[in-house]
Amino acid sequence: MGVNADGSGEPVPGDGAGDDSRHPVVWLFDEYARPYWKSFAGGLALSTTEQFPSRLQTVLIGVAIDAVLLGSGPFRLPLVPDSWLPTGQSAQLRLALVLLFGSFAAVAVLNFTSRRVLGRFAQAFQHEVRTEVFDTVQRLEMDYFDQHDTGEVMSVLNDDVQELQSLVGGVLARGLSLVTVAVASYAYLLWLNWQLAVVLSFVPVVLFGMSYGFSRWIEPKQLAVRERVGDLNSRLNNNIDGVSVIKAFGTESTERERVRSASRDHRDAQWDAHWASAAMDPVTRTVSQLARVVTLVLGGVWVLSGPPLFFTGTLTPGALYVFFRYVGSLMVAMQGVAEVVDAYQTGKAAATRLQGVVEHDTVVDHPDARELTDPDGAVSYDDVTFTYPSRDEPTLSNVSFEADPGETVGIVGPTGAGKSTVLKLLLRYYDVRESADSRAHQDASSSENADRGTISVDGTDVRDVTVESLRGAIGYVSQDPFLFYGTVRENVAYARPEADDEAVVEAAKLAGAHEFVADLPDGYDTTVGERGVKLSGGQRQRIAIARAILRDPAILVLDEATSHVDNETEVLIQRTLDELAADRTTFVVAHRLSTVRDADRILVVDDGEIAERGTHDELLDRDGLYANLWHVQVGDVTALPDAFLERVRREESA
Ligand code: ATP
Repeated sequence: MGVNADGSGEPVPGDGAGDDSRHPVVWLFDEYARPYWKSFAGGLALSTTEQFPSRLQTVLIGVAIDAVLLGSGPFRLPLVPDSWLPTGQSAQLRLALVLLFGSFAAVAVLNFTSRRVLGRFAQAFQHEVRTEVFDTVQRLEMDYFDQHDTGEVMSVLNDDVQELQSLVGGVLARGLSLVTVAVASYAYLLWLNWQLAVVLSFVPVVLFGMSYGFSRWIEPKQLAVRERVGDLNSRLNNNIDGVSVIKAFGTESTERERVRSASRDHRDAQWDAHWASAAMDPVTRTVSQLARVVTLVLGGVWVLSGPPLFFTGTLTPGALYVFFRYVGSLMVAMQGVAEVVDAYQTGKAAATRLQGVVEHDTVVDHPDARELTDPDGAVSYDDVTFTYPSRDEPTLSNVSFEADPGETVGIVGPTGAGKSTVLKLLLRYYDVRESADSRAHQDASSSENADRGTISVDGTDVRDVTVESLRGAIGYVSQDPFLFYGTVRENVAYARPEADDEAVVEAAKLAGAHEFVADLPDGYDTTVGERGVKLSGGQRQRIAIARAILRDPAILVLDEATSHVDNETEVLIQRTLDELAADRTTFVVAHRLSTVRDADRILVVDDGEIAERGTHDELLDRDGLYANLWHVQVGDVTALPDAFLERVRREESA
């Protein structure tokens, strides 16, 4: 599990990070940059090459001062044989000028081209990472979304992906250029005057050592910044989402304080990282200036009065100029290393979080998973015990039942009993996982509570079929159906985008939605608002039922799908659902027992177990929990036993 930079151990979006032993930045490029490696390598090569004509300008000016203006030395250029160079002063001046302008043009062209190529690469790379990571996020198991809120996930997909831009431009391209400049500058200094160059070699060594220490120091600070960005996003996102609750409870000032607090934490983390970067700069600058002073003092004395100290040979004014400028570019390069390290740590923190998301456990299809094609819809639960990943105690225990193709199974029971959980396992929102740990514990108490059992469709374990084909066979309407921002038509057709208007209207009619949709200002083209806020709860449910009907699934799962509609509308929907349910296996979770009264069988779930099962009449005859719930709903309170009333009181007070 990933740990916050402050060491608090709180889960972060990347709490699977580290499963892949590759370094996060290496992982990122290996996974997503491969298709663009040519433009990446080309861009890096161009930006590195740009440094050569750029450095050449200083050499040309220095040589021109000595040979052409002062006439004090031979006109020589590094890597160019002397026989190729002209001898007359004006010819030398012309050559120097031509080369100077040529180098200006080369720098301009190389700079433009490398920026263009690297910019394109960075955009393509970000696009690849964003879309691929989003695709992975879509496939993450529900447990991930239980533990991370939208703001946090958004911050990974938006902010962390955005940071990759600086990883490409600010770290790799600049870093490579700086190293090239540093190596080339130092090599040229050695060629020009090895004695002075050796004396100054302490500077790069000191600066490299400092950069390394700085990198280690700033790493946790940058990770903390990325975390705080996520926290702040979560807070803002939550508040905008929950704006109606905030208004209803008048908690604006509390929320303002919470946002301020998250923003303060973000500011402090930013400040911590920022001042660390800021502190590094003057230190490297001072060391660099020291090198320039040493060059100027030693070089000045040398030019004016011959070699000082243990030095030998001559130093011309032009060579001193070049030396001074090159020491400058060497130092600028070394200073730049600190900025590159800073940008690198930001990029690494972003890559770590992205890696963590991608490596989080997903309900993955195992390699031999097969397609579930044209299922009949026979469903069987065999001794299923299931614990939510975030819980210690099982939510379902020893659940076994069968539903034949075409049967309707009602699932009822007190709130929190585990009814929805039964169906979420069928959809594989969660998998029953027999952990190695639970298998290893042979004692009765732990094995009793350990996850086990099988859920199968048409005799095949749901874990052995692909998630996509399994869910493709199921039409699911949840307690609080989600509508996407868009039109009614788009929301109904979501289940089958290729469906024509006729099919959409037909599904809406069956779901009891057509009439109210026809009354909306733009009918099926009316936009429903974010999450369908412009519709009532009952209207949203009917659109969701239409959506499930349009899919024409072998298995229909209705989890409190009609809880928000009035009794009359429910009777109408019920009638069409009965027709629909006739040739498909249907599961209906309901608190309103009249909804499941006609079901082929009813399961009464109590505290994670199936307490009773049978038809409505059989269960009434049994005079158990179902009968009591029924008496409550029909208002026959006198028929309720004292023990049941006592239990209700206990649950109320709990
Ligand atoms: P209701 O009738 O109120 O909808 P239910 O019978 O459908 O209740 P479930 O939603 O299945 O009950 O929840 C059963 C238990 O599992 C509850 O105690 C609930 O708190 C817990 N639970 C549900 N979802 C999760 C989750 N994602 N993570 C941890 N616990 C959960």
